[in-house]
Amino acid sequence: MLKRVLTYSHELLQQTVKPGDFVIDATAGNGNDTLMLAKLVGDTGHVLSFDIQEKAIENTRELLRKHNMNNVSLIKDSHSQLEKYLHGKMYGNIDGAVFNLGYLPGSNKSIITKPESTIAAIQQLLPHLKEEKLIVLVVYYGHEGGEKEKEELLQMVKNLDQKRFSVLEYRFMNQQNHPPFLLAIEKRKAR
Ligand code: SAM
Repeated sequence: MLKRVLTYSHELLQQTVKPGDFVIDATAGNGNDTLMLAKLVGDTGHVLSFDIQEKAIENTRELLRKHNMNNVSLIKDSHSQLEKYLHGKMYGNIDGAVFNLGYLPGSNKSIITKPESTIAAIQQLLPHLKEEKLIVLVVYYGHEGGEKEKEELLQMVKNLDQKRFSVLEYRFMNQQNHPPFLLAIEKRKAR
């Protein structure tokens, strides 16, 4: 059975994120991915979760509170500032990251992820990502501004050095109306 894009994004993270891991949710939104990551890393792990909107930070905090999760740092800042929060010492120590691009469901559709900041965040993450670990992106692009982000992002990931990274694109070809698709970047083991 073919997995829906969001389901597949969760499966990839479930396969690669383990208890004790240090992971990033670059777009907290309503907190669903943050919650999943928090459960996967458990008490001995930690999640950094970013969003630029106060509403998203509040929604995520509330969801985590309901589930008694205390292993998340919520950061109201752009993921393009990610490196500031890693303090250098995290170099090579990130076990995974997820991005859900687009706008906060049920909120202001003009606050969207943008190509410059999304690409800046990925570029900052890549050196910190452990080998055989993933950055998973779910790309929604049906809204105004979405197409531009999609094109620039595809251009960037296509040009990643294949000796160092494997890039997967997973999408349904026959769905109408800009269905979301998935990109996964794996850091390959150095030979
Ligand atoms: N993963 C979320 C969930 O499980 O509910 C959905 C994320 S939603 C599609 C995209 C989110 O990205 C919005 O909440 C938006 O505020 C946030 N966002 C937009 N630009 C951002 C940036 N530069 N840094 C961090 N978050 C950003």
